[in-house]
Amino acid sequence: MKNKKSQRSWLNNMELKHPLVIAGPCSAESEDQVLNVAHQLKKTDATVFRAGIWKPRTRPGNFEGVGEIGLKWLKKVKEQTGLLTATEVANPVHVELAIKNEVDIVWIGARSTVSPFIVQEIAEALRGTNKIVLVKNPVNPDLSLWLGAVERLQTSNVKNIGVIHRGFSSYEKTRYRNNPEWQIPIDLQNQFPDLPLLIDPSHIAGRRDIIFDLCQRALDLNYDGLMIETHHQPDDAWSDVKQQITPDVLKQITIDLKIRNEQGNAIEYQNKIANLRTQIDVADHKLTEILGKRMEIADKIGVLKKENNVAILQNKRWNEILEKMILQGEENGLSKVFILKIYQAIHQESINHQNRLHKDS
Ligand code: PEP
Ligand code: MN
Repeated sequence: MKNKKSQRSWLNNMELKHPLVIAGPCSAESEDQVLNVAHQLKKTDATVFRAGIWKPRTRPGNFEGVGEIGLKWLKKVKEQTGLLTATEVANPVHVELAIKNEVDIVWIGARSTVSPFIVQEIAEALRGTNKIVLVKNPVNPDLSLWLGAVERLQTSNVKNIGVIHRGFSSYEKTRYRNNPEWQIPIDLQNQFPDLPLLIDPSHIAGRRDIIFDLCQRALDLNYDGLMIETHHQPDDAWSDVKQQITPDVLKQITIDLKIRNEQGNAIEYQNKIANLRTQIDVADHKLTEILGKRMEIADKIGVLKKENNVAILQNKRWNEILEKMILQGEENGLSKVFILKIYQAIHQESINHQNRLHKDS
């Protein structure tokens, strides 16, 4: 990964490395652990050390953070390594303590961004600050809440704001711990083009093996930085065990990542096309997922028909679907011929599935 200059606000003004790499453990556990990880990170592209001091756990009874003492360890990190430090704040007392202990970057967590009351209190506590304040997306896929949190900080005259995309929770379990829903950060960036946008692939993935791909996709979409949970012994971490990586793995990831945009027309073209292709990949992924889901429903209908001794082909129902879809297609700029072709293929695949079910049982 080669660095390039950021075009966006404070990242540019503060001459921070671009893409900005923030790394460190999910939670500060002990002074030794914090300093050990920080010294190893010094040999990577990371320039900011992160560690959660107060941990918002969804369910009680899990490790809830070491509290204020951890801030002293972050101070030592800065003194010994020169790395900047970052931690999560969830109320005005946290803000006051973080400022007192010279934390450089604070972030608002996904469970705080959902609450306008909490965000407002934090924004008041940060009024006029030059600290960098990063806002994670809310846990639920709601662009307005995310925008609202940014606007509350802006109204409190917080100067250096950025946002972190950490994915959105859903009841249905997918390959991600939190679905990326790429369209939401893209929409946010369209509304606030000057706001640096970072990805937190750790909380999106919930596992180690897809962190690289998420980072690459984010860089293809012009993100400005990465926040990656990194631990010297991930398997023994006190929180988020499955998604933390070692500093060595982080180093390799940043070496392998490609930054696709630099100056020049040809490069600008490459950049734009990579960006659009990534959006196409996201759309295609959704398409196949939704087609798979549709087919699962068709299978259930197949079983029901078999149990009730009903014929597979129901022409009346099928013609109704087609008419509806032709109308919807028109509304979405798709021709009748195209809709007919696509639905013929989908219908045929459903019938094949149902035929197979009838034969199998
Ligand atoms: C974290 O960064 O450790 C964290 C708790 O994140 P989130 O608020 O995105 O869940
Ligand atoms: Mn975590």
